[in-house]
Amino acid sequence: MRQETKCIQAGYEPKNGESRMIPIIQSTTFKYDSSADMADLFDLKASGYFYTRLANPTNDYVAAKIAALEGGTAALLTSSGQAASFFSVFNLAGAGDHVVASTAIYGGTYNLFNVTMRKMGIDFTFVEPDCSDEELEAAFKPNTKLVFGETIANPALIVFDIERFANAAHAHGVPLIIDNTFATPINCRPFEWGADIVMHSTTKYMDGHDATVGGVIVDSGKFDWMAHADKFPGLTTPDESYHGLTYAKDFGKEGAYITKATAQLMRDLGSIPSPMNCYMLNLGLESLALRMQRHCANAQAVAEFLEKHPKVSWVNYPGLPGNKYYERAKKYMPNGTCGVISFGVAGGRAAAEEFMGKLKVAMIATHVADAHSCVLHPASSTHRQLSDEELIAAGVSPDLIRFSVGIENVDDIIEDIKQALE
Ligand SMILES: *Cc1c(COP(=O)(O)O)cnc(C)c1O
Repeated sequence: MRQETKCIQAGYEPKNGESRMIPIIQSTTFKYDSSADMADLFDLKASGYFYTRLANPTNDYVAAKIAALEGGTAALLTSSGQAASFFSVFNLAGAGDHVVASTAIYGGTYNLFNVTMRKMGIDFTFVEPDCSDEELEAAFKPNTKLVFGETIANPALIVFDIERFANAAHAHGVPLIIDNTFATPINCRPFEWGADIVMHSTTKYMDGHDATVGGVIVDSGKFDWMAHADKFPGLTTPDESYHGLTYAKDFGKEGAYITKATAQLMRDLGSIPSPMNCYMLNLGLESLALRMQRHCANAQAVAEFLEKHPKVSWVNYPGLPGNKYYERAKKYMPNGTCGVISFGVAGGRAAAEEFMGKLKVAMIATHVADAHSCVLHPASSTHRQLSDEELIAAGVSPDLIRFSVGIENVDDIIEDIKQALE
């Protein structure tokens, strides 16, 4: 199946007489005939359902669809993108461990890493996504467990050189985790460029309709944990909290990472999405390919309009030929990047806020990457915890307007921007 077909068909195959749409199994628990049947499930000897915190059929259908879209072997849905970021890292790194992360990542991820996870005893070194080879090399330590980057950084729109960072990570025997939220697997599949694990905030394009908050982690099934057994004892030695299972041995490269995340992290932290939310996420996924095409076409037209307007001081969109990341975007995302544009209006911070107040089609919302056009001033909202230095490091200038181009008629969007600028 190609991506468009997977959006519709992957993950769930109804049998004779079964519902065409995935069933919503809105049930916390599942009934068994004997305790022995249940015991096999608890021991992970048989697969099946017993409690929705650990697994639910509706959720599994949707996870399987996303795994297929990314070209991975297994996936785990979480209650939010933040939970997915946390799980993806904490599944490999604990107190005393170290992580190399790109500076160009979502503000919430940066806080999670730099503040909350530091409190848990995990050390982070942040590197510029375009740093020199020497700087990248110097970021690694003997206790480094993974590298983390974002395909298209929200909101700096810096395109990450996945292949380069994957090679560096692998040279140090650790995996590369990519936040692929903005590109979606329609426009970029990081596994094809060497990434080992992908996570998403499904709240954005995947849901696509402002309906549900959610996240997902996907494993490529390619990273050989046993070949670096000393670095990843959590995967390569028996888990006494789970009947002495050794994930990398018992579930292989293909299943170890997601099984551990489910059996340990979901069991203990419980950040599950509801089956109803997963059903709604699936509705969004069905039209993902179609929507991404429209988002990219609309954003391209809006970016070209902005670039020519005298009241716009700068435009950042990787689809513009003059953009710093144009060539890299063409390599990783030949069919388009995303619907998000950032730009500054002449007059700086105050003019930016006034312009936003005059918009009628695009709404001011702390959201991005969905069907509705919306607009945000990161310096006074999503990134307000960051100092000016950290803002600049994340590629966010104080006058930056983040414009998330929706799938409305593009003429309505452009006319709206035009009248607001005037
Ligand atoms: C929104 C976002 C997140 C966080 O996801 P939530 O679903 O809001 O928890 C993580 N990464 C990126 C790139 C995002 O845009």
